[in-house]
Amino acid sequence: AKDAGKNTHRFFAADMNSQTFERLRLENALRQALERREFELHYQPQVSAVSHTFEAVEALIRWRHPTLGLVPPLKFIPLAEETGLIRPIGVWILNEACRQLTAWDAAGIKVPRVAVNLSARQFSPALVQQVAEALHASGLEASRLELEITESLLMQNPLEAVDILHQLKSLGVHIAIDDFGTGYSSLSYLKRFPLDALKIDRSFVDGLPLDEDDAAIAEAIMAMAKKLRFTVVAEGVETLEQSQFLQTKGCALLQGYYFARPMPAGELAGWMKGRSV
Ligand code: C2E
Ligand code: CA
Ligand code: CA
Ligand code: CA
Repeated sequence: AKDAGKNTHRFFAADMNSQTFERLRLENALRQALERREFELHYQPQVSAVSHTFEAVEALIRWRHPTLGLVPPLKFIPLAEETGLIRPIGVWILNEACRQLTAWDAAGIKVPRVAVNLSARQFSPALVQQVAEALHASGLEASRLELEITESLLMQNPLEAVDILHQLKSLGVHIAIDDFGTGYSSLSYLKRFPLDALKIDRSFVDGLPLDEDDAAIAEAIMAMAKKLRFTVVAEGVETLEQSQFLQTKGCALLQGYYFARPMPAGELAGWMKGRSV
């Protein structure tokens, strides 16, 4: 139906309108989500590659909207970033993750460390104070908090980033580079920034162990990380074969559906009991 340019135009406009409408609806709902307590953090375990002992969790946000249902983070985090709503949401995430760890402590559930994702727009001088306050309010020891940041975040303003990272490090928190290998930057930043861990992106783990390119990339990341003394975490581990490959190549921690899916806080103790490792 290539006959009517007019129609095409009208359909396009209608489509734009519904998209704009959908976006506005989501944005309004997002503005109220915090005070309505619609966010929750789910937690995905990270285990030792060698012994499979439980070492940490990554906190992953979920939005449970009364009528929209469960909205996945990739559907609202970008909007939260554009609108600046990520700042108050980010403060909530930091506080909630720290609070949850000390709640597990009080219940005798041993969760050594929690990793929290940070958006670029949270990464400002105010962040240092926010992290300090979340640690103080919860009483969580700083070394049990890890912040996951992306390399693109660091490269937006490298000079300011170095400064903020040093301040965060002096609080005692750990810093990990998320989605490692997917950015465009040179690797020289690895020696300029005070970092503790690299997370190999899921896109490189997918093809392991048979895909030669993925295997070469994963091995190269681990060889380099070893020399630079970074901990390596692999995300998206779905099979025994991936797990074994990563372990033999020197990866320290594994995270993925093979071990556990992200789960509500209330399910973690059951997961820990259910595995005899
Ligand atoms: P990410 O930080 O790279 O998180 C890993 C994503 O992979 C999560 O998706 C997780 O559920 C999923 N995943 C874990 N294991 C497997 C696996 O074995 N196979 C597959 N196919 N997927 C796996 P999720 O929870 O939907 O989060 C998507 C992205 O949203 C995250 O990617 C992160 O960039 C962002 N995000 C999530 N929570 C937060 C948050 O609290 N703050 C911020 N700023 N961003 C967040
Ligand atoms: Ca992450
Ligand atoms: Ca990733
Ligand atoms: Ca990410």
